[in-house]
Amino acid sequence: MRLGDGAVLRFACRAVRSEGSSAALIIVTDVTQQKAADEARNSLVSQATHELRTPLTNIRLYIDALIDQQDDDAAARLKCINVISVESRRLERIVGDMLSVAEIEAGTMSVNRGDVRLEPLFKELRADYEAQAQDKEISLTFDLPPKWPTLFADRDKLTLAMHNLLGNALKYTPVGGRVGVMVETQADPAKGDVLLVHVSDNGIGIRPEEHELIFEQFYRAKDNRISSITGSGLGLALARQIARQHGGDITVSSELDKGSTFTLVVPLSTAPSAAGTTLSRAA
Ligand code: ATP
Ligand code: MG
Repeated sequence: MRLGDGAVLRFACRAVRSEGSSAALIIVTDVTQQKAADEARNSLVSQATHELRTPLTNIRLYIDALIDQQDDDAAARLKCINVISVESRRLERIVGDMLSVAEIEAGTMSVNRGDVRLEPLFKELRADYEAQAQDKEISLTFDLPPKWPTLFADRDKLTLAMHNLLGNALKYTPVGGRVGVMVETQADPAKGDVLLVHVSDNGIGIRPEEHELIFEQFYRAKDNRISSITGSGLGLALARQIARQHGGDITVSSELDKGSTFTLVVPLSTAPSAAGTTLSRAA
């Protein structure tokens, strides 16, 4: 057996006695994998706890402020209630995302496939983000095919994956930027006909060494500009798992300070599910 660098071994020693002689039995077990799994679990729990603590602390602080308020300042009260409402919705979303990720990981998330009409789906997506784009003076464009294929997929889950991509593009693109959605179909030698959804922006971009890490649960880019933007680092992990459950994937090409393109690819007809692919996590 060859051991790699950083291998962890467990030694156990037992006395073995037989007539007239005594000996020791030394058992050496390679527990490297077990230790890595334990560390992964601990780190995930501490990251999750940290993510949940921030909104909880804010809720408690603003409830205390409401209780302490002596005067009858309606505006101040409303501000506290708004913060409590926003933060409790954030908690709800984090917990919901974590449950979905856990379900996919355990292979227990059901995929309810059906014929998905793409034209209304993209119309709704556009309507959902137009106001947000206007608020940030971002030009939001949709380049859609003249003829739509029918997709056999779980409409709600795929919509969620696209919301995460488009939401990110708007979140990580500064005021005055550009975000574009381009939809096309292609013949893929391995997967048959596939649907491709490219979500591009000319926002802050991502360093090459973080291109894979951003798909891990709770990972957020080590970029100062990220810290002032709300997020828990779960959206892409979830979106990629959904794409993989459909036999597809999400990939990224990005350049720091120039922008990013995330591409969602899913086979049009149902391919055997890639469910059960395990989620990796931030190291
Ligand atoms: P949330 O759970 O609310 O989605 P999040 O947006 O931080 O939080 P992800 O969507 O998983 O989490 O994205 C992970 C990280 O990838 C982000 O924190 C950001 O650093 C980076 N990222 C994602 N999309 C973009 C983008 N379009 N441009 C630049 N960075 C991005
Ligand atoms: Mg996100």
